[in-house]
Amino acid sequence: MKTELLKIDSPQQTDLLRRAAEVLRSGGLCGIPTETVYGLAANALDEAAVRKIFAAKGRPQDNPLIVHIASMEELPALVKEIPPEAKALADAFWPGPLTIILPKADCIPDAVSCGLPTVAIRMPSHPIANAIIREAGVPLAAPSANTSGKPSPTTAQHVLHDMDGKIDMIVDGGACSVGVESTVVTLCAKRPRLLRPGGVTLEQLRDVLGEVDVDKAVLGELASGEKPSSPGMKYKHYSPDADVKLVRGSLESFARYAKTYPAADTLILCFDGEESAFTNETIALGSASDAKTHAQRIFRALRDADERGFRNVLVHCPDDRGVDLAVLNRLLRAAAFQIVETE
Ligand code: AMP
Ligand code: MG
Repeated sequence: MKTELLKIDSPQQTDLLRRAAEVLRSGGLCGIPTETVYGLAANALDEAAVRKIFAAKGRPQDNPLIVHIASMEELPALVKEIPPEAKALADAFWPGPLTIILPKADCIPDAVSCGLPTVAIRMPSHPIANAIIREAGVPLAAPSANTSGKPSPTTAQHVLHDMDGKIDMIVDGGACSVGVESTVVTLCAKRPRLLRPGGVTLEQLRDVLGEVDVDKAVLGELASGEKPSSPGMKYKHYSPDADVKLVRGSLESFARYAKTYPAADTLILCFDGEESAFTNETIALGSASDAKTHAQRIFRALRDADERGFRNVLVHCPDDRGVDLAVLNRLLRAAAFQIVETE
């Protein structure tokens, strides 16, 4: 299949939007920009189209998809009930990088929910994502548009790299502003529970909901055979071909540790101002306290490691506050939970 690359700069370009919507309405797959990462979209109500997403990504069959909507009017048809907490979260964070798990309506195909009685719903804020959903006139199932297990795509070029020849179209709407996937919170547990940290922070969720539990899979490694609340959390994820390790310790001790690796094979991901401590190539992820910039840069940096042929990536470990909780969650999976304490 030939993959068409379509540049759309504004939601006013209705002719171009219609072409993307036509692909989706006719059961095809289209890579779309969102504020979090690029999504691989299909008509969420078309079971055959949704199955193509799993094939193109090589996604495990038991990892359910997020359904994307463009307005609150679309929500009641997709879920069994809308509890007051969902209304409060939607008022506070939609459109935006928050996914809410609710009891699913019967119209949600099994291919979307993977047999669970629940469905994940999000309303993206990216103007082009929003316009494509409206123009398609159907909710869109859209996981990240990467090959399963690889770092998520934050540019159309990343999508092309993974999906060329496997999907009908990629809409290029520029680089993603958040850079990591949406926060996933379930309202189907006893208390609201954070399943995956993302662009909306735990602190922000607690401001709206009061108490929010944090699933142990957010920062912990599941024991083999243990059943996760969110199927996606059990897989090795976001990893380049290079071996990734997280390094915790002072800059001096990190630099000493880095010297135990062959410099030419080893890329360092560090914070602004730390580059000169290393003889290796470095990519700075922003200043140490600037979590938003870490999120914007992390997946691109992991992809760059492979593009440039590095065999090892050593990453200065971020803390767990704000959006850094999401960055840490992704890095732990990219590193298969390998953390080196250098102090
Ligand atoms: P992705 O779309 O690739 O960013 O992944 C979506 C994430 O949401 C995965 O971690 C899924 O396991 C999770 N997810 C989707 N639907 C549900 C659901 N009904 N219950 C729990 N987690 C879900
Ligand atoms: Mg994904």
